[in-house]
Amino acid sequence: MNAHAPLPSLQTGCDIRQERGQRAVFCGLTGIVWLHRKIQDAFFLVVGSRTCAHLVQSAAGVMIFAEPRFATAIIDERDLAGLADANEELDRVVRRLIERRPDIRLLFLVGSCPSEVIKLDLARAAQRLSRTFHPDVRVLSYSGSGIETTFTQGEDACLAALVPEMPKAAASAAPSLLVVGALADVVEDQFARLFAQLGIADVAFLPARRAGELPAIGANTRLLLAQPFLADTARALEARGGIRLAAPFPLGQEGTTGWLRAAADAFGVPSDHFARVTAAGRARAATALALYRARLAAKRVFFFPDSQLEVPLARFLSREMGADLIEVGTPYLHRQHMAPELALLPDGTQVVEGQNLDAQMDRCRAARPDLTICGLGLANPLEAEGLATKWSIELLFTPIQGYDQAGDLAELFARPLKRRARLEV
Ligand code: SF4
Repeated sequence: MNAHAPLPSLQTGCDIRQERGQRAVFCGLTGIVWLHRKIQDAFFLVVGSRTCAHLVQSAAGVMIFAEPRFATAIIDERDLAGLADANEELDRVVRRLIERRPDIRLLFLVGSCPSEVIKLDLARAAQRLSRTFHPDVRVLSYSGSGIETTFTQGEDACLAALVPEMPKAAASAAPSLLVVGALADVVEDQFARLFAQLGIADVAFLPARRAGELPAIGANTRLLLAQPFLADTARALEARGGIRLAAPFPLGQEGTTGWLRAAADAFGVPSDHFARVTAAGRARAATALALYRARLAAKRVFFFPDSQLEVPLARFLSREMGADLIEVGTPYLHRQHMAPELALLPDGTQVVEGQNLDAQMDRCRAARPDLTICGLGLANPLEAEGLATKWSIELLFTPIQGYDQAGDLAELFARPLKRRARLEV
């Protein structure tokens, strides 16, 4: 069970291995926390248990300041025992919801472990309900279940569900850029301004802020992934003709510049113009990062596999902050999407795909890292053993992409070190 198998070689000097065994991750329902804030007229109805309701409520609860745009339709014992018609109950819940909330334009039925266990066909239910509520409300479905997923796969599944709904771009359409992955509005606005200054005129974002603004997709669409966990979405967009641009992810000054440059190159932006447009942002990021470099330089960092952001974050910490990477765990390693990132990691970096929790805990304890990035469930035990930890989920709840967030990203890693240093005084 504790397989440690070498993989076929990539264009990288990293030591990449796979590991299989017990895992400790959140499920894909977690993505609702940031997605419901992003798509402003969407509603997420989890079809699940009380456990699912508690998970979403406690993860999002502290952030609710208006009427929430998510809820859970509870599958109870009668449903599980097959005594009730779950479809009829679901239709009743949805009808009541849409009557109460006429602002909803897009309803996601989000599958869970219980809905999968009773084999409730939410795709079919979504089609049926879409017909009922057409044209006012579109109903889609995806799975956020914890069976074989990591928590960021919820966003991937949600965005992949949107792809068939996107209009087809005309074959004669001018080249357009589609930025894929949920970004905080403030970050999206910053990137939109930079693309406009670069002279890239036709830029859209997926997900759009409103359900009715889904961008078109076709052979002239260039895809720029803003998040590293969108394998299914990228595959669906490529199947509709989009062409993915290879790029690092927009984390830190270097990652943001590489990401923007991939778009600039694809759209023929002259390099001197690119340098002029990005100069101010690069300078701001460099100034902000300098504040944290002394705290993070030469710190030994260990990543447990959790968010799928691990490889780009490791690249940022190593190259821009001078940290030493002990181990970079990641739940999945998409060889193509991650190739530009892997090429930037120092030779010999230990990258471990998958998880065998006990073995990894042993390696972490033996290494005594200065900073461990891990899920919530591991953070408390490791803190109790005297290790400084950072919850990886915070990196999804916080705007961290782009030049103006580079300092905030560094600060997220510097904060636990500072706190621990205080505790040790
Ligand atoms: S979807 Fe599964 S893992 Fe997630 S909260 Fe519900 S029961 Fe738990």
